[in-house]
Amino acid sequence: MTSSRPLFACSLALLVGGDGQQADLPEQTHLLARAEERAAAGRYAEARRLYERLARAHPDTAEGRTAARRSKPSAYLGAAPIVANGPPANRVDVALMGDGYQLGEMKGFDKLAADIPPLFERQATLREYFSYFNFHRLALVSADNGVDGFGREYDTALDGRTLSTYAGHVGVSAKRVRAMLDDWGEHDSLAIVFVKQGVLGTGGGGFATIGGRNAKTTIHEWGHAFAGLGDEYATKTHERGGVSRRVNVSDTDDPDEVPWAHWIEAGVRGVGVYEGAAGQVRGAWKPTSGGCVMESGEFFCPPCREALVLRIYSIVDPIESCSPLPHPRGHAVHLVLDDPFEPLAFEVGVMQPEKHRIEVGWWVLPERAAPLGPQERLERYRPSRAGHTDRRGRGPLPMMPTEPVAYSRGVRSGRHRFRLEPGELEPGRYRVVCRATDTTLLRGERTPWVLADPDDLLVSERAWWVVVPQED
Ligand SMILES: [Zn+2]
Repeated sequence: MTSSRPLFACSLALLVGGDGQQADLPEQTHLLARAEERAAAGRYAEARRLYERLARAHPDTAEGRTAARRSKPSAYLGAAPIVANGPPANRVDVALMGDGYQLGEMKGFDKLAADIPPLFERQATLREYFSYFNFHRLALVSADNGVDGFGREYDTALDGRTLSTYAGHVGVSAKRVRAMLDDWGEHDSLAIVFVKQGVLGTGGGGFATIGGRNAKTTIHEWGHAFAGLGDEYATKTHERGGVSRRVNVSDTDDPDEVPWAHWIEAGVRGVGVYEGAAGQVRGAWKPTSGGCVMESGEFFCPPCREALVLRIYSIVDPIESCSPLPHPRGHAVHLVLDDPFEPLAFEVGVMQPEKHRIEVGWWVLPERAAPLGPQERLERYRPSRAGHTDRRGRGPLPMMPTEPVAYSRGVRSGRHRFRLEPGELEPGRYRVVCRATDTTLLRGERTPWVLADPDDLLVSERAWWVVVPQED
């Protein structure tokens, strides 16, 4: 379905777009919009001055309180899209942030942020689904340029600190990262944080933290943060207290018990059980002999790649738009097929991976034959902060009782159409069902990227009621 989620900058666009509207708005609204506009344009010192002015002039308004927060020595100043591939409601929205960047150094962060989407585009797995991502630059100013540790404390936006690993990996306060995301607006709770003076990186729970700038570290930490992948290297970095199971890390070498057993069972070449993972030489196993990004390589191994694709589809619906609006199962509304010269036309727009296409099937089923869909459950989902639902909550789709009446494999535009012609159906009530599926099978490859999809995340459905009236 098309998104009804407003863009982050919509209030801004409204204010900046038409001069005629500005007069009607209270001064504090206008000042806040101007400050955000300056920050979006990278004019941080000006943004800062406007926030200070607003905080002084309107301390008892919501805008004034926001401005006071943004006037602190370390603060969120504003955001700007870097790569906008589609509506945030149906994209993986990645927030890029910096820690330890003082006001005069923020141009450096802007440049760094601009270099991150190309890293995703160069990585084979992420490139295939690059159009599923949006990237946003969140401008954070820090009072100090430093990282806590070794007895020193600095005032920085995200409280960057040196962790007690052997090499002193960098970490930040997840609470602060969340606070900055909340100040920005609707978000997917996903961030990549660059700590100016930190080293190496850490990742988990949606947030990747990178010391300085390092392409390889960024993608590796993103694997931890976004898909919960484990480390496939054997080098000990710190005391981890036991091996925690991940889709790519096992505490057993039993090929039937490892989390990637379905890859072994399918006989996929190169996938087995290899000792040395999770920062230890013995007692932890990984799916390939080496070379995964989660070790220190360039490519994600098949189980890691599968987890990344499924995670993307936990956020992104393969069907992006649909016309006419679909009818939930319990819906009283229906379309009527009664004009002998006017077929009913349906259209869905699907997501477009880089090198393969999403396939679409259509069914026309008499009401009693239509399987119970998940729509009722869908409506009860708790939407995420970004306004979209976690698609994992939908659960698997029911089996269709028949083969589709129409099926399309490759439509370049991503727009799939179906026409229901008058005269083809007996009078009655029908369910027209459209299902779009990402087979994850790329041309020239033997094995799909996803072998196990218990929640049918790769499949999306829309359905409509159609009534064919009795002829008088
Ligand atoms: Zn891997």
